[in-house]
Amino acid sequence: MIRILFFFLLLSAISCSTREKGSPQVYFAGEIVNPTSNFVVLYKDDIEIDSAKLDANNRFVFLLDTIDEGLYNFKHSPELQYIFLEKGDSLVIRLNTTDFDESLVFAGEGEGVNNFLLEMFLTSEEEESVIYAFYEDDPEEFSRKIDSLRENKMSLLLEVDSQYGLSDNAREIAQASIDYNYFIYKELYPFYHKKRKGMEEVPDLPSGFYAYRGQLDMNNKHLTYFRPYYKFINYHLGNLTYMQCMKDCDSHDQRLESYLHFNKHKLGLIDSLITEKALRDNVFRHVAIDYLLKVQDKEANNIEFIETFHKLSGNNRHIKEIDNLYQGIMNIQPNRPLPDIELTTVDGRNVGLKEIAKGRNVVFYFWSGTQKGHFDNIANRVAELSDEKKEYSFVGINFNTDEARWKALIESKGLDKDLQFRSDDYEHLTSTLILYPMNKAIITKDTLIVNAFANLYASF
Ligand SMILES: [Zn+2]
Repeated sequence: MIRILFFFLLLSAISCSTREKGSPQVYFAGEIVNPTSNFVVLYKDDIEIDSAKLDANNRFVFLLDTIDEGLYNFKHSPELQYIFLEKGDSLVIRLNTTDFDESLVFAGEGEGVNNFLLEMFLTSEEEESVIYAFYEDDPEEFSRKIDSLRENKMSLLLEVDSQYGLSDNAREIAQASIDYNYFIYKELYPFYHKKRKGMEEVPDLPSGFYAYRGQLDMNNKHLTYFRPYYKFINYHLGNLTYMQCMKDCDSHDQRLESYLHFNKHKLGLIDSLITEKALRDNVFRHVAIDYLLKVQDKEANNIEFIETFHKLSGNNRHIKEIDNLYQGIMNIQPNRPLPDIELTTVDGRNVGLKEIAKGRNVVFYFWSGTQKGHFDNIANRVAELSDEKKEYSFVGINFNTDEARWKALIESKGLDKDLQFRSDDYEHLTSTLILYPMNKAIITKDTLIVNAFANLYASF
């Protein structure tokens, strides 16, 4: 009670004494219960614009003289949440990190839209499992259920709007927070329904199933960094690509199984549909990372993909990151020598990756002390494989773990110390050896790579 009282005292102090009415200044302040860091950081899009240190009572204040109105993020590491700011807003939040999103409340000028956004965020999380059950339904039934969930939120928005009198921009973001979550389900429906029902083909959909596509804005600058919109755009492009390939591309069954074709087709579609630079760059990047990292295609296909990518998105603001990933993947193709990486041994000596691999067959695997469950599983699996596959030495490379903890964990599993090494430069390790997914393994024969995209479970 005292805390709540203080909360409103703080709010009124801010609204009355320090701010003149009609001022364009924005106040954003609050209290963090059980803080997990010393700062609150404010982002516009992906750029940090300000940070505030918590005081002795775990309170923070931002005072911004001029702002671009719109969607922001505030981060209290490691958690992140949206905040919509307009000139003259004075918002106070209270949150408890043990229950971050659920405990968050906004009060003050701007509370209407912000509490609404938060409620939509929480509701969409809750509804997810309910809606997954709907994928069994035929298209008409599915559509009816989704539309009715959306209608409920629309009535709620009407209430909020009549209570607070939202600005056009606030109404736009509030509307988007309803719409895109439901549109995503519709974009996914044909694929999930097909799978659930064990169908050969995606179902025919009634006209009107995608009615919203008629007014769709694929270039909305305000929503570029709004998660539901961004996710929607990616799913929508996936859906369009699939449907176009089915209809137009030669011998479609074969084409659809080609990840290269599908992803190149998708790049072409992005090029033709998205002009808004930041959104376009992010969506292009998403396809590149997804294809290069997850498909792990053959060398010639990777080359063809990156050439197409450069042709369509050579000026991408993420091009360096994408090129580095591509180069990293190309450097560890079969028959290439292992890259140079410095590691340390349990007795504190420096040793190169090549030196470890020399004159034997090695399976490298990777683990971190921060993921204890993964380490337990991987230690069991490696013990099993070491018995079965005597022709290999199974070598563990640890990262993101301090030395003492690393040694304690090795001890706890009774691992062979001669086969355990540690890297203290995770960034270099992962950009060179592409540590994805977690169970990946690299198989080598006398310092040459046999397969850098093997898997401890699937490959043996
Ligand atoms: Zn195609």
